[in-house]
Amino acid sequence: MIGMAFARMAQKQFQLLLQSARMITPRVRELTFVREDQSPLDYTPGQFITIFVDCAGERLRRSYSIASIPGREPDAIRIAATNVDGGRATTRLFRMEPGERMQAMGPFGRLVLREDPPGRYLLVATGTGVTPYRAMLPEIERRIELEDCSVELLLGVRGPQDLLYGDEFAAFANERSGFTFRACYSREMPDQASEFEHSGYVQGLLPNMDLNPERDIVYLCGNPTMIDEATAFLTESGFPMRNVRREKYVSSN
Ligand SMILES: Cc1cc2nc3c(=O)[nH]c(=O)nc-3n(C[C@H](O)[C@H](O)[C@H](O)COP(=O)(O)OP(=O)(O)OC[C@H]3O[C@@H](n4cnc5c(N)ncnc54)[C@H](O)[C@@H]3O)c2cc1C
Repeated sequence: MIGMAFARMAQKQFQLLLQSARMITPRVRELTFVREDQSPLDYTPGQFITIFVDCAGERLRRSYSIASIPGREPDAIRIAATNVDGGRATTRLFRMEPGERMQAMGPFGRLVLREDPPGRYLLVATGTGVTPYRAMLPEIERRIELEDCSVELLLGVRGPQDLLYGDEFAAFANERSGFTFRACYSREMPDQASEFEHSGYVQGLLPNMDLNPERDIVYLCGNPTMIDEATAFLTESGFPMRNVRREKYVSSN
């Protein structure tokens, strides 16, 4: 049995080749990889990959959500990493140059859109926790058009300059009546805030969302404190846990 588990794990490992990288906010670097064996990565939007980073004789594993949009960027494996002061994996990710390689495995994760009855999805994120929702955009579009559901994306960041993929989400919302986008700034409001910009922590928006615990399905991704506070509020509001789907961004070792 142990041998089989190792064989499965080995099968899922692959070498990533960095194609390009760019800063998409002052603290977030987006990295676009391809698999060195040129195979596409067969993932479901919302999943993540785990990378291996060798650091001071230790082999660290760190996970990053896949931000690439299937179909639109077929072989690209795009991730967005937040700079963490003294962070061992992020130091490596921020220094990597195109052409360099990194061992990875995956995809993993269950923060994916399931076959739910039509209703309303609330997709809540802090920072790079929004990247799984970016990957879901084509499926979100399909569900809005065919299944009469609506989607509200709530993104919490420190200030307007940290709004990763904000223009994309705002454009997506402008083009579709079933999709709304709200940004929440915890530290700094713009001088002239737009209608979609709010002040405070993103979980603070939940009490004003006219929640329906039977019909709404809430996805929470990113900062563990946001997820714990939002979960406590949703539980108190009568949400069954099957309607609350979560992914906490914590380091594994
Ligand atoms: C399923 C999953 C998906 C994830 N997806 C992403 C993603 O898409 N993008 C992303 O940037 N991260 C993501 N993370 C977090 C990521 O895996 C690392 O934990 C993070 O990059 C820090 O790793 P590090 O080795 O640089 O820091 P470490 O060397 O592990 O930590 C250094 C110090 O920083 C603190 N620290 C660790 N993480 C954070 C943080 N996020 N903010 C502030 N302080 C921190 C630690 O407590 C420690 O004191 C995800 C985590 C999980 C479990």
